[in-house]
Amino acid sequence: MKISFKTGITIIVLIAFSFSSCMVDSRSESEFFAMDTVMTITAYGDNSESSVKSAVEEINRLDTLFSVQNQNSEIYKLNINKYVHGSKETLELFNCAQMVNTMTNGAFDVTIEPLIREWGFYTGLEKQVPTQKKIETVLDSVGAEHIKIDKETIVLDKDTSVDFGGIAKGYASKRAAQIIKENGTSSALLSLGGNVRAVGKKPDGSEWSIAIANPDDNSKQAGVLNVIDTAVVTSGGYQRCFKYNGKNYHHIIDPHTGYPADSGLKSVSVVSQDDCLADALSTALFVMGLDNSAVLYTENSTLFGAVFITDENEIYVTDNLEKSFFSDYDFKVIKK
Ligand code: AMP
Ligand code: MG
Repeated sequence: MKISFKTGITIIVLIAFSFSSCMVDSRSESEFFAMDTVMTITAYGDNSESSVKSAVEEINRLDTLFSVQNQNSEIYKLNINKYVHGSKETLELFNCAQMVNTMTNGAFDVTIEPLIREWGFYTGLEKQVPTQKKIETVLDSVGAEHIKIDKETIVLDKDTSVDFGGIAKGYASKRAAQIIKENGTSSALLSLGGNVRAVGKKPDGSEWSIAIANPDDNSKQAGVLNVIDTAVVTSGGYQRCFKYNGKNYHHIIDPHTGYPADSGLKSVSVVSQDDCLADALSTALFVMGLDNSAVLYTENSTLFGAVFITDENEIYVTDNLEKSFFSDYDFKVIKK
């Protein structure tokens, strides 16, 4: 049988198409525990299996580097010795943390560590309400001015220690997404606790739909964000909390008062291309509250967008996300 030139092309196209659909069909997933939370990474298409494996390894490596409680970590050693010759990763993390600290007038502050410890928010500690006197004493060692960085040496004041719980998952998702892309996988979804990172588009070429949890009932959603290749990070008082004498206390502390932030918000979700920024900002905006966050947004609308859920269950969405946010509930738009 003689195959014409045209039929030949058709056959090649069909073969190529069936190969590409095979590749799209391949899916790899890993669920694992790191950074004190359950994480899931799902990758699709080319090299998905090795991408997931390398991403999990990298997150575990970063967990060992940044953990406050692991005695082998760089941060643990820094907190004990008050100085460390920082690795590239730790220096990058400090840089991002310091940038967001300045940008948010101190609402994000990694020197919060002694307060988190006093409130008992670390695994293995008993959660408690510290006395006002204790909080005032501890506050003396909280603040960016207690950290000095000279080239690669990080030095802390005598009573100061640092906690990267509000940003480390962002750094981890940034690195993991980079590794996945470098490995040739163009479609993946990472869910690291409250941090979601979309790599590229869904395998069918459409946008990823990221649910924003209903803070009153996490099994339900307050809305959905449709995104491509970006980080979506949520901070909420509901994520880690305890009740004492009928009052709720959560893990996001206002560095200016030493108490759990009480700014009128139940949750904040931040969308940004920069995972570290998204993570640090979600914590900071939760501390700052709606009005101050709206001012910050108007000055930095190219850097991030956000969805806020207030104590009254009102939903506010920044105007750069207006077309990507869908909800059964009414929502208001924050204009630039
Ligand atoms: P996230 O879930 O990203 O909002 O981070 C919350 C975690 O960040 C807490 O469990 C603390 O380890 C740490 N943290 C709490 N308050 C602050 C703050 N104001 N600035 C920086 N880190 C904080
Ligand atoms: Mg955060």
